[in-house]
Amino acid sequence: APVVGVLALQGDVREHLSALSGCGAEARPVRRAAELAAVDGLVIPGGESTTMSNLLGVFELLEPLRARIGDGMPAYGSCAGMILLASEVLDGRPDQQQLGGLDVVVRRNAFGRQVDSFETDLDFDGVEGAPVRAVFIRAPWVEKVGADVEILASVPPVTSAGQDAGEAAGRVVAVRQGTVLATAFHPELTGDTRVHALFCDMVREAVAARR
Ligand code: GLN
Repeated sequence: APVVGVLALQGDVREHLSALSGCGAEARPVRRAAELAAVDGLVIPGGESTTMSNLLGVFELLEPLRARIGDGMPAYGSCAGMILLASEVLDGRPDQQQLGGLDVVVRRNAFGRQVDSFETDLDFDGVEGAPVRAVFIRAPWVEKVGADVEILASVPPVTSAGQDAGEAAGRVVAVRQGTVLATAFHPELTGDTRVHALFCDMVREAVAARR
């Protein structure tokens, strides 16, 4: 089974670990550089991106993580994790560090400017079957994507509850660039493991390509 880590400095680590185990991965929390070196892929959970970027510095993980992502280790960022992977952040804090890997401009707390949380069903490219339930919690959205970035999901104009999505309508909320996947929402909170399964497939492919 592929070994998939969850960055365990902050955020909802347990939920990601169980979603990954549910997809047949060997899921492990990652707090140290030696643990990072031993995984085939890494999930960067939601939480608070500024705090997480500070903790990455304290735990001396910033450079090792940038190096592994640059070297093609699959990474999946949810919410704050998406912010950390983005090449540019709007409404970020000046001391926030970026991991890079994803050529997008994200706006931090974009949904939070209207309401703290927002939910809808989404069509998600690469996820078969029923739409994906997306829970956004003070979430970012993507305002600009680079040429190599695939858009996997956008907010529909009317939510599945029949509400006008307002400013969120049409916003990009799931993207992939090569071995990097990111969602503005939290699939680990809904019990639907299909987004994690997509990531586990990306990890399996990367492992097979290295053999
Ligand atoms: N608002 C948070 C941030 O800026 C992200 C929220 C989340 O991960 N649920 O980092």
